[in-house]
Amino acid sequence: MISTTNGDRPVAVQDGKYVDLLEADPGFPRSLKELFMRDDGLAQARGAAKKGLAAGSCVTGRLLAPIASPGKVICIGLNYRDHAAETGVEPPPEPVVFNKFSQSVVGPEEAIRLPAVCQTVDYEAELVVVIGKRGKHISQADAGKYVAGFMNGNDVSARDWQLQKPGKQWLLGKTPDTFAPTGPWLTTADEIADSRNLPIALRLNGRTMQSSTTRELIFSVEELIAYISQLVTLEPGDLIFTGTPPGVGMARKPPVFLKAGDVCEVEIAGLGVLRNPVVADA
Ligand code: ZN
Repeated sequence: MISTTNGDRPVAVQDGKYVDLLEADPGFPRSLKELFMRDDGLAQARGAAKKGLAAGSCVTGRLLAPIASPGKVICIGLNYRDHAAETGVEPPPEPVVFNKFSQSVVGPEEAIRLPAVCQTVDYEAELVVVIGKRGKHISQADAGKYVAGFMNGNDVSARDWQLQKPGKQWLLGKTPDTFAPTGPWLTTADEIADSRNLPIALRLNGRTMQSSTTRELIFSVEELIAYISQLVTLEPGDLIFTGTPPGVGMARKPPVFLKAGDVCEVEIAGLGVLRNPVVADA
């Protein structure tokens, strides 16, 4: 999705160009969520992209979050073997699941706003799965059919709220507004040969803080979809943040936390670079 002088438009990103899918196909849905609700949605997108590229229907503008308002933002904790080791805990025998509100989602280049009441805000590079099809009780073998694609994500976390409040405020520590940057675009599942073999990194002000691979995932994308959908119906546009590798700020000696003026970049192979500046909020 892109913001232009002509409103927000769905685009395909091809060879560095933004192909205007609405101009190529006037019947094109206005959001990716609506696109995934159509059985032939991705085929329609490919057709429109091809037609638009041939016709030179390209636009300029600012990229927006690919899924601006997901129905659910599901997150997985402690899902990298090397990160579990870093935090000194045993790898969990089952996925650790929590969530963020959809309001926390922002797109590339949008600011991560540090609330005045949070003193220790951390970054977490994550592979984000975008659900493309409604389903419950999905088997691991079928899980791939429910994945529309993948994005970079940053599971921004206020450690003081997550870990030091009575009863542990995981939700409030994880879901302040702007704490779920995603993008810069959605890469469709067919373009990712193996979600279990992707280099993943986070740079803070140009310095590499996290560098690992999704081979370290304890629970694969397919296992997570099967596990969650035992209880929860997954719907088009739902996001699953799949956990973060080692190198988070709170585990460093001395610890590193985000401050106004910082810039975070998340880069997973094949998914582009998700860049977000950090600013102080009220
Ligand atoms: Zn996380």
